[in-house]
Amino acid sequence: MYIEHLSLKNFRNYKSEEFSFIPHTNILYGENAQGKTNALEAVYLFSIGKSFRTTQDRELIRFGEEMARAELVFSDNKRQQKIEIILRRDKKKQIKINGVVIHKLSELVGRLNVVLFCPEELGLVKEGPNVRRRFLDIALSQLRPNYYHLLGLYNKVLEQRNNLIKKIKFQNASSLADTMFVWNEKLATYGVQIAAYRAEFVKLLEGYAKKVHSEICSEELLIEYRTRVGTKEDFLEKLNNNLDKEIEQGYTLYGPHRDDIYLAVSGKDAKNFASQGQQRTIVLSLKLAQADLLFEENGEYPVLLLDDIMSELDAGRRAYLAGKILNKQAVITCTDVEQNLKTDTAKTIHIKGGAIL
Ligand code: ATP
Ligand code: MG
Repeated sequence: MYIEHLSLKNFRNYKSEEFSFIPHTNILYGENAQGKTNALEAVYLFSIGKSFRTTQDRELIRFGEEMARAELVFSDNKRQQKIEIILRRDKKKQIKINGVVIHKLSELVGRLNVVLFCPEELGLVKEGPNVRRRFLDIALSQLRPNYYHLLGLYNKVLEQRNNLIKKIKFQNASSLADTMFVWNEKLATYGVQIAAYRAEFVKLLEGYAKKVHSEICSEELLIEYRTRVGTKEDFLEKLNNNLDKEIEQGYTLYGPHRDDIYLAVSGKDAKNFASQGQQRTIVLSLKLAQADLLFEENGEYPVLLLDDIMSELDAGRRAYLAGKILNKQAVITCTDVEQNLKTDTAKTIHIKGGAIL
């Protein structure tokens, strides 16, 4: 799939701008703090309805303005679609797909698929399990929209169960413990499904990532989904038998919201032992594998958004990436256009002060 046109009004530092993209490499270049990442952020917004930099939608509205509007036209094998997003300071954002207002983000997720690679993503290897779960949740939601729906149900039950635990703990409402079984049942039902989706996804992803990784370097990559969820009965038993511990801690201690992905290179745990270069190679492999998997399962290669990563990669890895994205759509940002996959067919767009020069 490929994006054709992006229109921004009062979005971040853009007052009013129109971008046209080609189905191959598009390079947004310019000095620091001019609006390159802001433009990528706008494109990303259409994939899952959220920014990759903030959870506060109002930060996306240009300083001093009340409202921002972003519109994206994109095509896949089947059709052309138009999505419009309107952000207001004091209201929930409004999203229209082909002119029709949607009421749930689940109606958006899975339409425009993008794979983002930015320097912050290097934290995927070294940071806490929540970062890896987030990667998993976003990647899976794009591949399997049902998963996104399921995750929403799970998170709601988890929140309600945590509220109940806090009530018992802080308001001494121990009689409420009797109602816990209702939440346990729901948490276990959704929880085992979440874990099953993730385990299947990681298995598939590992196949593609191993291949990419071995094409970049000679080390072997291993990826494993680490869960303690088990069967529904196991999960229920843990919930039923450990309520005292949970009340003491003040939140739900068991479930897929505590799971992790284990990464290893040449048999060594990457979280503890991978060098900077090894981390970059792992993340590059995971991201390209995510894109390959989307292509194999959906028949559509996602749009690659590469934010300022060329300077992070050595010449060999850059060349590999260039080969990989040939004939696919990528939007790349950089400060120095020369070192950045510039080919005769690439489109270059010069950004300065929130405008195209
Ligand atoms: P770099 O090369 O350093 O990564 P960049 O071109 O990617 O730079 P962006 O992150 O896209 O830069 O834009 C940063 C600029 O946008 C900053 O100067 C920031 O002040 C401005 N900015 C961010 N949010 C808003 C907003 N809501 N309204 C107006 N300007 C904003
Ligand atoms: Mg930037």
